[in-house]
Amino acid sequence: MDSEADPPETENPPKRHKCSACYKQYKKKEHLIEHMKISYHSLHQPRCGVCQKHCKSFESLREHLTGPLPKGLCSTIFSQQGCQLCLSLFDSAVSLREHLETCRLSSPAPMGTDAMPYISSQIDNLDSCDENGPGGRPRAIAMDCEMVGGGSDGSLEICARVCLVDEDENLIFHTYVQPIIPVTNYRYDITGLTEENLRNAMPLKEVQEKVLQILYNGESTGKVLDGGKARLLVGHDLEHDFDCLKLNYPKHLLRDTAKYRPLMKTNLVSHSLKYLTRTYLGQVNFFLEFLSALIVSSSAFCFLYDIQSGAHDPYEDCISVMRLYKRIRGQIHKEEGYGTLTSNNNIGESDCWQSEKVSNLTPDELYAMSRSDYRCWCLDLRPNLAP
Ligand SMILES: [Zn+2]
Ligand SMILES: [Zn+2]
Ligand SMILES: [Zn+2]
Ligand SMILES: [Zn+2]
Repeated sequence: MDSEADPPETENPPKRHKCSACYKQYKKKEHLIEHMKISYHSLHQPRCGVCQKHCKSFESLREHLTGPLPKGLCSTIFSQQGCQLCLSLFDSAVSLREHLETCRLSSPAPMGTDAMPYISSQIDNLDSCDENGPGGRPRAIAMDCEMVGGGSDGSLEICARVCLVDEDENLIFHTYVQPIIPVTNYRYDITGLTEENLRNAMPLKEVQEKVLQILYNGESTGKVLDGGKARLLVGHDLEHDFDCLKLNYPKHLLRDTAKYRPLMKTNLVSHSLKYLTRTYLGQVNFFLEFLSALIVSSSAFCFLYDIQSGAHDPYEDCISVMRLYKRIRGQIHKEEGYGTLTSNNNIGESDCWQSEKVSNLTPDELYAMSRSDYRCWCLDLRPNLAP
């Protein structure tokens, strides 16, 4: 049924096989099937509010909507009714303006390094007041660590500071950490830390216990696999934090803004937290950003949400990852007809695509068979998933 011939006339173009999700077109049906096998399209992919095209990442959706080579009609409509931050589309310019009041966030006041060396005022409250969030879903905690350098060239990573923040942006734990080997570089420009900060700091072992106490939230390690009371942990490149803390936490409870597919630059490369914060939480536009860079001291530009412009502040970073997580978790995605995520959700890796029937399916039916290869954070709000 494929026509290999050149299109004879425009009124009667050769039949193309078009992907229902990303609109890529193929001359041959089997090429479309091949494409579906490896695309993992789903209702959870970032999508254009105008044409409903599915994109692999928010970054590619942003390109589709705003350029450098934006799609004509989509970009015209989006430029009038779309939010540059979360990329949602609104019915009118008025509702967009209302939305922006809540979507554009200002950065929190940094904690600085004058803060008390150790804060954990609310740990006790946590245990009694919120076992789980509304609907029995697990509550999330954001964590950030700052590292100083050890070894002869200062390249060994030593955890020197840990900060944990809850979903409501309350600081629940902050401490400086006693270096486990001699510090050869305090990386002052980045960490703002000096020898003074780490004098009398908390020993690593004690820090580990505190962190685990907060994360496991009274849940036994064995039961964590089914969720229970243990918390979801939000962070940016958590693996690195855990390496330096010399800790482990179950992978299925991690929500990592550096590893979450739709937030990544490519399949393998992450965006920086600084980039994600400006782009998704508070960047107004490139022109204003450019101006603000010129007029650094002008208070007129203080609405730009920018972190890490000086020393990294673990509290600010925690707030950023938590806000990113909540923004993505709050996306409204239709529930799939096939029920909730299970271990065999990934049909793309099963035999289903091999079966002979597949070649007779329409593009829409192929799309209906396709499953995501990552777990969308919107599922964290679905009560039927919280055991
Ligand atoms: Zn596609
Ligand atoms: Zn989703
Ligand atoms: Zn579009
Ligand atoms: Zn928005």
